[in-house]
Amino acid sequence: MRDEEGVAAAVRRALQERTRFRTAGSGGSKGDITSQRDRLLHLDQPTDAIEVQGNLVTAPANMTNGRLQSLLRPHGLAIPTVGEWQNATLAGAMLTATHGGSARYGIMSTSLREMRLVTGLGDLVTVDFGHPDFEHSGVSLGLMGVITRLTFECIERFSLKLETDVVPFAEYVRDPVSHESRCEFHSSVWAPEAGRVVRFAADRVAGPLHPVSREQRFGWRTAVATFLSRRMGLHAAVSSTVFRRTAVGDVADILSPLDLSPKTVRFRVVANKILPRAVEFAVDAVRASEALARFDALFRAHPGRLLNPIGLRLTAGDDFTLSPSLGRNTLWMDVFYYGGEPFVTELATLAEELGARCHWGKTLPLAPEVIQRQYPGWEAFRRARARFDPNEVFANPFTDRLGLTGGGFGGTA
Ligand SMILES: Cc1cc2nc3c(=O)[nH]c(=O)nc-3n(C[C@H](O)[C@H](O)[C@H](O)COP(=O)(O)OP(=O)(O)OC[C@H]3O[C@@H](n4cnc5c(N)ncnc54)[C@H](O)[C@@H]3O)c2cc1C
Repeated sequence: MRDEEGVAAAVRRALQERTRFRTAGSGGSKGDITSQRDRLLHLDQPTDAIEVQGNLVTAPANMTNGRLQSLLRPHGLAIPTVGEWQNATLAGAMLTATHGGSARYGIMSTSLREMRLVTGLGDLVTVDFGHPDFEHSGVSLGLMGVITRLTFECIERFSLKLETDVVPFAEYVRDPVSHESRCEFHSSVWAPEAGRVVRFAADRVAGPLHPVSREQRFGWRTAVATFLSRRMGLHAAVSSTVFRRTAVGDVADILSPLDLSPKTVRFRVVANKILPRAVEFAVDAVRASEALARFDALFRAHPGRLLNPIGLRLTAGDDFTLSPSLGRNTLWMDVFYYGGEPFVTELATLAEELGARCHWGKTLPLAPEVIQRQYPGWEAFRRARARFDPNEVFANPFTDRLGLTGGGFGGTA
């Protein structure tokens, strides 16, 4: 489906046939938002062209983050709010609240200035910064329409120097926010068994440069070191001696080092639904220290439940109705865990007590009633969604379960 008229025709057909569909991204979301059973509309837009006006860039919605960053290179521009995976589509990443790690910037939607979409009535609508529904649309799980084009505000392109080191968890947990704010871009990996935190800190550096590629946060070194720590008690494996590195490179290469193919990722996503789970909690930065200490106690009480060490990042707060970082600077905690009781219930209870929201592109261990209470604009979002798609063409069992939809074709309410 290449053009907007074709998308509108697909919507009208769905209305006539009283069916629902979901727009396909790269399939990188790890939770039920990308069920294999949903009927999919594939956009298949040409991804070789962008429009650039000053620092505003417009791109097809199914272009990947990596592709856009490389097309921006000759224009001397970049988007600083992207996630680590190059192959996420712009729309899929933005709609699920994808983010990087920077106390200065917010999630990817905070770079959004305009979107074009085909509504559930088959109308083509532009939602820009001043539009009354802009704040509902930036993180909207595909429920407002089929997004065809997105305009982002970029910043001048630059290079980054990334330093990696390790600090004791006891030191980090005293003030996680200042650790994550000490450079323009920052992210960490916490190994609870080792009681240590590996920090990846990047600041701008002037060229010309000889690029030195970075290691991934969850790369082989992290896997081996945390395995040795967990299985053999060799906690010294998670140390600055092992991890200290300096990488230098273009901002896009440093911020988005993951180039896994969508096919590999989709296989892992299906496996993740059966075996380990991936949740990313979004904790109010004001409670970051308390949250980490309480999660630490939980993980110690249930040894063996974690698959990986835990990713930690900070972003600035924003105003999007369904954004997990709505209204507050946020510490994000990526937890990969094996299911099983009572661990899962205790994890969800702790997250609820801490007021932790969840990344929409990962598992949601919290009950729908809890999630609804976490978003003051939940009802306003539902009303906006109903204006854009009164017959719920874009609804699916996941959004029905959440209570965002449920009365339209195939719905349950
Ligand atoms: C290897 C890897 C690394 C990751 N790293 C990060 C990270 O650093 N930070 C982070 O926050 N997240 C991260 N994630 C999560 C990830 O960025 C997103 O949740 C996901 O990849 C979104 O992009 P996608 O194209 O895969 O969308 P999908 O998962 O395919 O779709 C997500 C939702 O968007 C909808 N959608 C997609 N396109 C459109 C459209 N054009 N119009 C309307 N609706 C649409 C879909 O129907 C679905 O509801 C990572 C995921 C992977 C697999």
